[in-house]
Amino acid sequence: MNNQDLLNISREFGNPVYVYDAEKIISQYQRLTGAFSKVKHLKVNYAAKALSNISVLRLLNQLGSGLDTVSIQEVQLGLQAGFKPEDIIFTPNGVSLEEIEEVAALGVQINIDNLSILEQFGTKHAEIPVCIRVNPHVMAGGNTNISVGHIDSKFGISIHQMPHLLRIVENTKMHINGIHMHTGSDILDIEVFLYASEILFETAKHFKNLDFIDFGSGFKVPYKEGDIETNIEELGKKLSRKFNDFCKEYGKDLTLAFEPGKFLVSQAGYFLAKVNVVKQTTSTVFASIDTGFNHLIRPMLYGAHHEIVNISNPEGRDRFYSVVGYICETDTFANNRRIAQITEGDVLCFKNAGAYCFTMASNYNSRFRPAEVLWYNGKAHLIRKRETFEDLIRNQVEVDLQLSGSKKEKEAVALKEG
Ligand SMILES: *Cc1c(COP(=O)(O)O)cnc(C)c1O
Repeated sequence: MNNQDLLNISREFGNPVYVYDAEKIISQYQRLTGAFSKVKHLKVNYAAKALSNISVLRLLNQLGSGLDTVSIQEVQLGLQAGFKPEDIIFTPNGVSLEEIEEVAALGVQINIDNLSILEQFGTKHAEIPVCIRVNPHVMAGGNTNISVGHIDSKFGISIHQMPHLLRIVENTKMHINGIHMHTGSDILDIEVFLYASEILFETAKHFKNLDFIDFGSGFKVPYKEGDIETNIEELGKKLSRKFNDFCKEYGKDLTLAFEPGKFLVSQAGYFLAKVNVVKQTTSTVFASIDTGFNHLIRPMLYGAHHEIVNISNPEGRDRFYSVVGYICETDTFANNRRIAQITEGDVLCFKNAGAYCFTMASNYNSRFRPAEVLWYNGKAHLIRKRETFEDLIRNQVEVDLQLSGSKKEKEAVALKEG
């Protein structure tokens, strides 16, 4: 998909709008499965929270992907999109026993990440197989907000608690069928990944009836020219060899599972917004666009970098801009960014807008959430309508408070007194 395709979409569906290129999702999926072709049983479970539009879920389902979910609502979306319960894994953190039971009753694979729930669940439902989420305590992740494997992390059962865990399993006679880790986003170094995998293999030896080992995700994708990305091909070669060796030692061909979100959808996404105002101040030139952190919060939330291209004037001379949103507080997408000369009315395109963008959008400032478009086979398909005023008030309930001394009461008194 090229600039003209994006401009046409902006014209047809309005701004701001999210666009996803299906071909890119497909090629990333095939790249990952290709890298692990030497593993007999591979399962890719797409992490729904990255981008949960039902048409995107359907696309991944058709590719043969499973689904990684963190809430019962994501499970329900997955079922609605056509995933079979056995192709869904539930990897929540800190949710109630009731929610886990409800999901288990749907036939979905449960993944438990703390000893308290493990013991309660095992005591009540020893017959339901459970995967355990282990925290191997390796430091990975480019940003402390999204690193989840370190010692202070709230995620997973510490490997140092293995004796306690084994006691629970023995006492409850529960069946552990999988071992899981997810060390956090943006793993730069595949050696860190391989090191963590050794810890998982050691952990796995404690359990005799495993079906799978899930290595989570955290693959890094490039955000700008020259960025380092996880070398999936090299990881595939090295981890496949280690995994196959382990299966021999274990005496069973286990399934190797991953649950990538960002890797599959980040680069497939584009976010288009129109420039409302170009404002020259004494220190900088602001380009104010018709959106804000209500629609794309990653730069404000954790300093994420999104490339910004002026697709209305791609050949224009580069100038420096601060690109800002319309939210009435600090709302900065980019500072001092080199962008082709901007004129009011131009359409700016944010790259890497597939993962954790629309799914984190809100109605702050009472704005409508944007439309979403899927580009497939050279055609644009609307996959979510832009919200309307109806959507903003749908669940709001107006009460008549009848405040004494209110404007309404005074009017009524005035009327009576003539
Ligand atoms: C968010 C999440 C993922 C996906 O992470 P990415 O960095 O987007 O690939 C995978 N597994 C679990 C348990 C998650 O919470």
